[in-house]
Amino acid sequence: MIIAIDGPAAAGKGTLAKRIAATLQLPYLDTGILYRATAKRVLEAGGNPEDVSTALTAAQSLSAADLARNDLRDAATSKAASQVASIAAVRQALLDFQRHFGTAHGAVLDGRDIGTIIFPQADIKLFVTASVEARAQRRYQEFCARGETVALAEVIADVQARDEADRTRTAAPLMMARDATLIDTTDMDADTAFACALALIHGKTT
Ligand code: C5P
Repeated sequence: MIIAIDGPAAAGKGTLAKRIAATLQLPYLDTGILYRATAKRVLEAGGNPEDVSTALTAAQSLSAADLARNDLRDAATSKAASQVASIAAVRQALLDFQRHFGTAHGAVLDGRDIGTIIFPQADIKLFVTASVEARAQRRYQEFCARGETVALAEVIADVQARDEADRTRTAAPLMMARDATLIDTTDMDADTAFACALALIHGKTT
C-alpha cells in the first residue's frame, strides 16, 4: 500500500505520516529530507542553491549519511531546500529513489508532490494543511524546544515565503491532487488528525 501525504510546510504531515506508518507497519520516507540534504551539501561547499549544475551534482551524490544528518532543519537550509527543489533536474534526479523506496514494500511518504507526481496511483492521498499562523506557531515552538532563538514574525515570513515558492514554481508545484482528501489541522491536535486520517484509510481500504 502506498500512502501519499502532501501539504505545505509545518502542517503536521511528518508527525501524522510517521504515526500512520508505525501503526500500519509500513516504511516511512520524509521526502523533504532529500531536498534539505541536497541544499546542505550545496551550502557547505559554498555554492549557490539556485545554480542548476551545482544543485544537480549535490542531488546526484547524496549518501545515506547525508540523509541521516540531524542538522537539516535550520532556517538557511529550509530556504535553500526550497530553492534546489524548484529545479526540475534536481527533482528528476531524486525521483527514482522515492519510487523505489515506495514500491519495494509499500510505504507512507510525505512531501509536496507525492500524490501528484511521484505516486499518482497511490492507494491513499491526503493533503494536510493549516492556516499560516497555526503552522508558523508550531514551527516556532519546535525552534524554541531545540533552544534556537528566532522571532515569531521571522518564522511567519519564512513559512509564507516557502509556501509561495513551493506553490508557484513550474517544476512540480505544491498542489492538492484531485483525488486527495483534505485534512485541515488548524484547530486539530495531533491525536485528532491521526484519528481522522486513520478513519479515512480504513474507510478506503476495507
Ligand atoms: O517538508 P520539508 O519542509 O522538510 O521540505 C523542505 C522543502 O523541500 C520544501 O519547502 C519544498 O520546497 C521541498 N520539497 C519538495 N517536494 C517534496 C518535499 C519537499 O519540493 N516532495
